[in-house]
Order: sequence, then C-alpha cells, then structure tokens
Amino acid sequence: MITINKEVLEGIDLDLCQLMLNDIGAYVFVKDVNKRYVYANELAEELFKDHFGSIIGLADNELFDLSVSSDMQRNDDKVLKFGVHIKETEVNIIKATGEKRVYISVKKPIYNINNDIVGLLGVSTDITEQHTLQQELKRQATTDYLTGLYNRRFFFELTEKSFSESIRHKRPLSLIMIDIDFFKKINDKYGHPIGDIIIEFVATKAGSLLRKEDAIARVGGEEFAILLPSTDINAAELIAKKIRTSIDESSIEGEWKGFIEPKVSVGVSIISPEDKEFYSLYNRADKALYQAKKDGRNTVRIMTNE
Ligand code: GH3
Ligand code: MG
Ligand code: MG
Repeated sequence: MITINKEVLEGIDLDLCQLMLNDIGAYVFVKDVNKRYVYANELAEELFKDHFGSIIGLADNELFDLSVSSDMQRNDDKVLKFGVHIKETEVNIIKATGEKRVYISVKKPIYNINNDIVGLLGVSTDITEQHTLQQELKRQATTDYLTGLYNRRFFFELTEKSFSESIRHKRPLSLIMIDIDFFKKINDKYGHPIGDIIIEFVATKAGSLLRKEDAIARVGGEEFAILLPSTDINAAELIAKKIRTSIDESSIEGEWKGFIEPKVSVGVSIISPEDKEFYSLYNRADKALYQAKKDGRNTVRIMTNE
C-alpha cells in the first residue's frame, strides 16, 4: 500500500527517483483525485510535448479521445473511488494525432495518513506492436486464408457454444451446408487458380446474404457451413434458397474465355431437443445435402428430426 505522509500530493519531492523513473522504459505518472497529472516521467511528457509542453495539471480528456477509449477513465475510477489495484490492457487514442496505442497499465491508489485516497500511481507499458501481432495471429488461427471466412476449426468451436446455449435457452439453431456442384469440372476446365476464384465468389455471395449474428465458414475445399442462431427451419430454408438462387443467377467473367456459372447444392437442418451434441445437427444437414446432390443438384433439401 502506498501512503503519502501529506494531505495533498503537490510538492512531493520526487527528485531522488527522477533519474531512474525517466529511464524505466514505461510511462510513469501520478494523478490527483480529479484525475489531473501531478507527476509524469520524461517518456509520458514527451508523448505530448509538441502540443502541450507539459501535461502537469492536465486531465486525460485533454490528451486522449475518451469518446473512443474509455478504458482509462473506467480504470482510474475503480482505483480512485474503490481503491482497486488495476492491471489491465488499455486502448487509448491520442487526441492530437488520432494514433491508437495499446498499453498494459498498472494503477494503484495513493493514500494519505488518514487513509483517504488522494491520487493514483500508474505505470503504463506500450504493447501496441505485440498487441497488433497477437491480433493478427488470432485472425490467422480463426480465418480461412482464401475466402476470409472462419476456418473449419474455429467454426466447430463456435458451434459447441451455440449448441449448448440453444439447448439451455430452448432457442432454435439452424445449420446450412453448401457444396459447389461439379466443382472438379471447373478445376479441370479452367485450372486450380480459377477454381479458387469461384470458391471466393461463392463465399462472398453467401456471406453477403447473412445477418451479422450468423457465422459462415469454409469447412472443406468447396464446402461451406452456416450457423444460424435463433432461426427456425422456415427462416433457414428461406435463407438457403436465397443463397442458391443468387448463385444460380450469377455468371462470372474474368481473364478466361466465356462465363463460369457455378451452382450449389444446399442441405438445411435444425436442432432437436433430443440432440446430445452438435454432430447430430451437422449429420442431418450433411444428409440433406447428400439428398440435394442425389436429386439432381442446384437445389435445397431439408432434414429435420421428426
Ligand atoms: P459434386 O457435385 O458431387 O460436389 O461434385 P464435385 O466435382 O464438386 O465433387 P467434390 O465435391 O467431391 O470435389 C471437390 C473438388 O474440389 C475436389 C478438389 O480437387 C477440389 N478442391 C478442393 N479444395 C480446393 C481448393 O482450395 N481450390 C480448388 N481450386 N479446388 C479445390
Ligand atoms: Mg465437396
Ligand atoms: Mg462439390
């Protein structure tokens, strides 16, 4: 616990520590109860030097765009009002430049001898580069490189969560499976790279017809799955038909002779109260898809558990 043997923070003699604090490689600062800076090490001062000269006496709303990033204020309030010790990631937008920086901030209350909180001590380390890298790795781990849709692994992670939520809240959950018809012929006639363009086209087309709560993934070479939370079988069928029709009506022109007109077969299923795992639902959509293929392709089939 930090206790300052003075009523107010002004006039605190920090000279002794100055040299070390300036060379610590992190932003070190002290704010009073009104969240105004009473101390900032060189690194923190330098960030705003061009605009303010010094930040002493200033509050964060003058330095950061708090309408975009409120982490900092929320954390300061927790420390100043409730004496909470914080170690949190903060995303802050620097007002003067619009620059977004990510920090890991440690904040602790400072008490006077009467045990009143009189300010806070903060140490913020800039982790913007690591954070960007981490976000990119996360994106790569969840995304299919060709289409930008979710990949198979992440999709099945999502389905587990959606499945148990739907069972718990007795909400419908539908699934659409899509497979491009006679795709081998497209590959054979035009080559693999053009086949890839068709896969991307189908992915974008299907994705554009969904709501933001739906999740679409590329689960195989030219196979896609769509999870539709809180969606009954009629609504799911309507979406499936819309996707099939809009692909059926598409002609794709490119650096090749003529038009490519991809077609898709679609299987639809819905959760049933007897289902013990997502696989049951998946299995039915897969069977419905197989039926669509058997019935001549370029069509939608449904399989429920009735
Ligand atoms: P069906 O109507 O029965 O679905 O016939 P199909 O020719 O589409 O048969 P199938 O679904 O079994 O074939 C899928 C083909 O997709 C086989 C494979 O060569 C091709 N494929 C898989 N992944 C990719 C990919 O990333 N790019 C391209 N261009 N082709 C792929
Ligand atoms: Mg296939
Ligand atoms: Mg196919």
